Amino acid sequence: LLYNEVQDLKGTIRVYCRVRPFFQEQKDMQSTVDYIGENGNIIINNPFKQEKDARKIFAFNKVFGQTVSQEQIYIDTQPVIRSVLDGFNVCIFAYGQTGSGKTYTMSGPDLMTETTCGVNYRALRDLFQLSNARTHVVTYEIGVQMIEIYNEQVRDLLVSDGSSRRLDIRNNSQLNGLNVPDANLIPVSNTRDVLDLMRIGQKNRAVGATALNERSSRSHSVLTVHVQGKELASGSILRGCLHLVDLAGSERVEKSEAVGERLKEAQHINKSLSALGDVIYALAQKSSHVPYRNSKLTQVLQDSLGGQAKTLMFVHINPEVNAVGETISTLKFAQRVA
Ligand code: ADP
Ligand code: MG
Repeated sequence: LLYNEVQDLKGTIRVYCRVRPFFQEQKDMQSTVDYIGENGNIIINNPFKQEKDARKIFAFNKVFGQTVSQEQIYIDTQPVIRSVLDGFNVCIFAYGQTGSGKTYTMSGPDLMTETTCGVNYRALRDLFQLSNARTHVVTYEIGVQMIEIYNEQVRDLLVSDGSSRRLDIRNNSQLNGLNVPDANLIPVSNTRDVLDLMRIGQKNRAVGATALNERSSRSHSVLTVHVQGKELASGSILRGCLHLVDLAGSERVEKSEAVGERLKEAQHINKSLSALGDVIYALAQKSSHVPYRNSKLTQVLQDSLGGQAKTLMFVHINPEVNAVGETISTLKFAQRVA
């Protein structure tokens, strides 16, 4: 069943849209989301436009409304994640403006519970369960790396001393996804190991944040799960990896407000998000040239974007009226690659 489920997703790019719910105190607020269709359509209403130009329609593989649970999100993500155990490389991205719910989808809220935990934790739990159920056929080893890309520099988040050594990227498909070979690769065998590592990673992101607050919204974080399986009958080895990417906020920074460090950050983010869009677009078009070299992000993920690899992009939108400009540009970005 597993094989059949994933067969048609091979080499494909899927785009899911998720709408963040309003906060408690916003309950009566007007939403810019006018309509969500079963078929993946979403209509945005821009109240600042004249009536005849106000409504815009976008089409994705799926659209998840405000009330969709973390569990439901995972159910629709599970088939691609499980295929890692069959040797596929997978990238899952969370894209959207700051505050639209990227970290909520990937990690969960700050105080996460059994019901609110995000894709990252659910994915690892699922991979452990499934690999344990297969031990009579394949024995698996699972390890994780966690890096951050900030201002086009790669940093290891799984260090105990908070050191911020810059890491090099080496593209070598023989390493199968190990494109940052100097980042610590930590073996994990249960969800407790994973929670411990996530805590370390969070803490190391926070260290950087004292110098520049809210740094997490201006860097990309990449949690990579490496899986190696040995088939008992044949002795053959299969490898797959899963990249879970919480992207930097996609909001455009006003030229007037961005100076110095802030301007540099904005330029780096802008450059890497457009490079990602260009790579996915080239892959979707089956173009012969895929411009991986244009950003550190696309270089790190090169072996897991294209070919047999699977890509899933969650685009997040904030339904508030004052976010409508960012919402439209987010959906346009996503529409281009869908
Ligand atoms: P981002 O990572 O895009 O900046 P966050 O994930 O931090 O955004 O979300 C912003 C706020 O909204 C957080 O307080 C988060 O807990 C909350 N939030 C986001 N998505 C949801 C959701 N689907 N359900 C409940 N709360 C959410
Ligand atoms: Mg975030």
